[in-house]
Amino acid sequence: MNSQVFETPIEYLRGVSASRAEILKKELQIFNFEDLLRYFPYKYIDRTKYYKVKDIQPELPYVQVIVRLISFEVLGEKHTKRLVAQAFDDTGPIELVWFQGIKWVEKTLIKGKAYVIFGKPGIFNGKAQMAHPEMEPYSQEALQRKGNLTLQPAYNSTEKLKQFTLDSKGIQKLVAALLEQTYKSIQENLPLYIINRFKLISRQEAYRNIHFPEDANKLNEALHRLKFEELFLLQLKLLKNKLLHTQKFKGNIFGSVGDIFNQFYRHKLPFPLTNAQKRVLKEIRQDTQRGVQMNRLLQGDVGSGKTVVALMSMLLAIDNGFQTCIMAPTEILANQHYQTITELVGDDFIEVGLLTGSTPQKTRKILHQKLESGELKILIGTHALIEDKVQYKNLGFVVIDEQHRFGVEQRSKLWRKNVIPPHILVMTATPIPRTLAMTLYGDLDVSVIDELPAGRKPIQTVHYYEAHRLRMFGFMKQEIAKGRQVYVVYPLIQESEKLDLKNLEDGIEVMSREFPLPAYRLSIVHGKMKSVDKQAEMARFIKGETQIMVATTVIEVGVNVPNASVMIIENAERFGLSQLHQLRGRVGRGAEQSFCILMSSLKLSRDGKIRLDTMVKTNNGFEIAETDLQLRGPGNIEGTQQSGVLDLKVANLVTDQELLIQVRKFVESIFERDPQLSHPENEMLHHALRSREEGLSWNKIS
Ligand code: ADP
Ligand code: MG
Repeated sequence: MNSQVFETPIEYLRGVSASRAEILKKELQIFNFEDLLRYFPYKYIDRTKYYKVKDIQPELPYVQVIVRLISFEVLGEKHTKRLVAQAFDDTGPIELVWFQGIKWVEKTLIKGKAYVIFGKPGIFNGKAQMAHPEMEPYSQEALQRKGNLTLQPAYNSTEKLKQFTLDSKGIQKLVAALLEQTYKSIQENLPLYIINRFKLISRQEAYRNIHFPEDANKLNEALHRLKFEELFLLQLKLLKNKLLHTQKFKGNIFGSVGDIFNQFYRHKLPFPLTNAQKRVLKEIRQDTQRGVQMNRLLQGDVGSGKTVVALMSMLLAIDNGFQTCIMAPTEILANQHYQTITELVGDDFIEVGLLTGSTPQKTRKILHQKLESGELKILIGTHALIEDKVQYKNLGFVVIDEQHRFGVEQRSKLWRKNVIPPHILVMTATPIPRTLAMTLYGDLDVSVIDELPAGRKPIQTVHYYEAHRLRMFGFMKQEIAKGRQVYVVYPLIQESEKLDLKNLEDGIEVMSREFPLPAYRLSIVHGKMKSVDKQAEMARFIKGETQIMVATTVIEVGVNVPNASVMIIENAERFGLSQLHQLRGRVGRGAEQSFCILMSSLKLSRDGKIRLDTMVKTNNGFEIAETDLQLRGPGNIEGTQQSGVLDLKVANLVTDQELLIQVRKFVESIFERDPQLSHPENEMLHHALRSREEGLSWNKIS
């Protein structure tokens, strides 16, 4: 908030004793005025409607009734003690009961008076009843006043809070007191032109109405205003950082397309590029001509042809006198990239180096020399290639495969590899919904390959229950007889590791029995094995010496065995959607029709069923990512934890996608017109950025 008032510790609020303050901090993380102001209701109860006593039923939610009070008395002893009141309207009698706060309630009740009562109705001994109703003296004016406040806020509370009479109603009273005291200090933080353009209500109005809506319409406007503000400020900050970054880091200019690129394109590329590939190449080409360092995320499903795009971008860099490298998360993947790339470029065209943890010292030395002299133009490897010892003459373009394993820190290590930092292309086969990418990778530009090369046969996916296991075995045999290879994957999840390992062992036993030597040979790979053994087993499968690979999810990342055309996933209901999609992507890489069989038990949760159905229905990674986002919410999507996504309080990345896209575009246009935010009309935005940062850091400290 933009006034110091809101930093006032919560105990300074009227009605908040030291002990209440303690419990508010502990239970709700409400430390100061701002925290309380931003403790929003989780729902609203409609108070426009009045019920008659005869219409009361126990199934109804909260209702309000206008009644006249006839009598009341305290009954019972000690823990059966209660205050019971009799009341009626023109349709019948109703009994009101209090078990707590008896003395206080008793004092406030007046016989013969009319009240608006509000609470959860019940039937007791065949008679309408209401326990602990809210009582408000009835009068024409009160009703009119009420006529405005039709939606009653409901706040989440806890047992502990309730002991301090901080139930929903108690919290509501505090918020009312707070609003009364600080209303005038709630300052606008968006410039007038934005308010007008997006038809937003003022910040004051928004805060008042989110707590105490005048009506449903006003509530919607309040929500809209606060969502807008939240998304707007987040995007403002992200795009500002991106801008700062590009101002700080000059970029190498790849001015021309040269011989190497053209020769490759005309004589070596064995297929026409897809339109999506062409588009991304164009995007990269534009990025690398601007004199600004490129940080681009390239998303595309497995097999969509990202590697080719990366290679051609590298050739462009080489044409302009630069060196390039590809960094993979594992040695196996580095080896595979090496193979793919050497095959594509051919022997005599351009030298390609490979540098991983197991590169012998002698070779390493030669590589180092060739890099320093600038002789070697393409280096492929693991993070070994960003070690300090590895010096480049003129590194200009870096490709990072599978971004989840490389954090911002590693990226920045790369920036330091040259006076002018190299352009960076991050490739990922885990598509992220567009809105999430905007927020998660607000500092990266995003390119998407959303088209598979022509002639690809989509993977056929089926869902089998345990009862179909024999059919599944039969299918495996049939495919193996055709010369294909099969993956069988088991879950291995930390929380249930013991059970999972048992399942894996049982699975291996069943498989060995069903697929005995010498006709069948199995590779077995799981996380508990030594790395060398894993590599050896994997290598046997890659070479085709074994037909079945039984594994835990260690094979998830990028392994490419074109001849493997069947993926069987055991206990598929236990995998997340993106994981299932990643696993399935291990097949469908060769010319053959590929299959994925999802095995599950009969008992499925609703979400589990949706996950499996989604997998059967579509091969499109973006569609799958959307469903995943909807099922799990942004908080559980990989990578979101460190980002600002979770700080969103009002806006929701699933339901407010349209607004987010609109806001993002708008913020972009602001920076286009006014990169420094120096126009007078944008002055307020500096403030907003600063107070947001303070707010965030404050949250972290508490
Ligand atoms: P990704 O890295 O996105 O998983 P790759 O670049 O490894 O995909 O490409 C997968 C396979 O498809 C490779 O064998 C590659 O040669 C081939 N490929 C790439 N682009 C095309 C295209 N436009 N037409 C036909 N095949 C292609
Ligand atoms: Mg690839």
